[in-house]
Amino acid sequence: PVVTRFAPSPTGFLHIGGARTALFNWLYARGRGGKMLLRIEDTDRERSTEAAISAILDGLTWLGITWDGDAVHQFARAARHREVAEQLLASGNAYRCYATPEELTAMREAARKAGRARMYDGRWRDRDPSEAPAGAKPVIRLKAPSTGETVIEDQVQGRVVWQNEDLDDLVLLRSDGNPTYMLAVVVDDHDMGVTHIIRGDDHLTNAARQKQIYDALGWPVPTMAHIPLIHGPDGSKLSKRHGALGVDAYRALGYLPQALRNYLVRLGWSHGDQEIFSTEEMFKLFDLPQIGRSAARFDFVKLESLNGHYIRQTDDAALLAELEKALPFIAHGSELASKLDDTLRGKLLKAMPGLKERAKTLVELLEHSRFIWADRPLRLEDRAKTILTAEARAVLAALLPAFDAISDWSAETTEAAVRTYADTANVKLGTIAQPLRAALTGRVTSPGIFDVLAVLGKSESLSRMRDQAK
Ligand code: GLU
Repeated sequence: PVVTRFAPSPTGFLHIGGARTALFNWLYARGRGGKMLLRIEDTDRERSTEAAISAILDGLTWLGITWDGDAVHQFARAARHREVAEQLLASGNAYRCYATPEELTAMREAARKAGRARMYDGRWRDRDPSEAPAGAKPVIRLKAPSTGETVIEDQVQGRVVWQNEDLDDLVLLRSDGNPTYMLAVVVDDHDMGVTHIIRGDDHLTNAARQKQIYDALGWPVPTMAHIPLIHGPDGSKLSKRHGALGVDAYRALGYLPQALRNYLVRLGWSHGDQEIFSTEEMFKLFDLPQIGRSAARFDFVKLESLNGHYIRQTDDAALLAELEKALPFIAHGSELASKLDDTLRGKLLKAMPGLKERAKTLVELLEHSRFIWADRPLRLEDRAKTILTAEARAVLAALLPAFDAISDWSAETTEAAVRTYADTANVKLGTIAQPLRAALTGRVTSPGIFDVLAVLGKSESLSRMRDQAK
């Protein structure tokens, strides 16, 4: 069975690239009846924080990405990592190295001058530890092969070959007894039964090192897939402006998790030119060979239009529930949250068909719904103020008696009243609709004006018209 893992370092929020890596691992495993495990790589004690761990778990949960079992904390496994280093020492696949910082600097300098990739020259490989300076604390290094090649058959990158003479003997255990990242990853992946490693291609060179450790231990090497990183729309490194944000920022911007997920799956992976995928389809279709080798480009416009699509196709009640869930995170969300009761829910639901046609994000949905729950007197957009000329206000005043006479207030009855008035006064419908919209919503765009009247109800509609008719 397939076992994948997502292995974030909790040094910051869950960024968009990490979210995509998690998604790919989740889809690959779940689509094959396998498992996705979660490992928190918290060995960098200075930079790892509890807050970052919760932000990561929170981000995954919001995106609907689930993991199997409890999260594994890497730092807690340090004793096991040490044990494996000792095992390599005992089998002759590792050795103690007593090179001083000065020696290492000199070696690095010499390698740089000679244009050599290999820095550590292996001086303690075959030296007797009895020659070590008294009291010196050694590191443990892997006795890596010095000739031949290290090869990874990567599912995305293809066959990747390193010359062993370019790879120096990497450190497994530091002089303070702490395992290196390279050792920890291999031991954890092995012990967790990971069969497939899917991660960013910034880890490709690590893969060569890790392969050498697997080989020294006689452990099977998991299948690897190194996915190209996400770049900005212009091909440059992804910057904040271009979308290099935490997943929490996307929640705050009013994206639906299912839309972001759909957007992320297409970032580097494709299935023909299909753009919209249900979760079921993603499980069924996602596979490694269709991941492209070139960097995916982040495109906010595309994300927005995809989000608009999801907003439109989510049914009204479900969309209201999504909006409610998002309120604590989006701008002005608390304003609505403080007023939200069942009456208001009913109004929002009634207005939803018109609202969702226009909103590309939940933030827009909230703003466009503001007229429903805003307090009188309504604050008017500048463009709405422009519309409410003396003439327009007179139209509103003239319409008031006709509206007041309506006993069964609805979109139909208000429309009939407006049409009758337009005929009698010999004015175009637009001449009436525009000031009405401005007075009732404070905006120049809104759902259909008769729907607006119906949602607001008679007394609120009349009060808002009177506010402006003066
Ligand atoms: N902790 C690493 C990172 O956040 C991932 C390591 C791995 O996937 O092997 O970049």
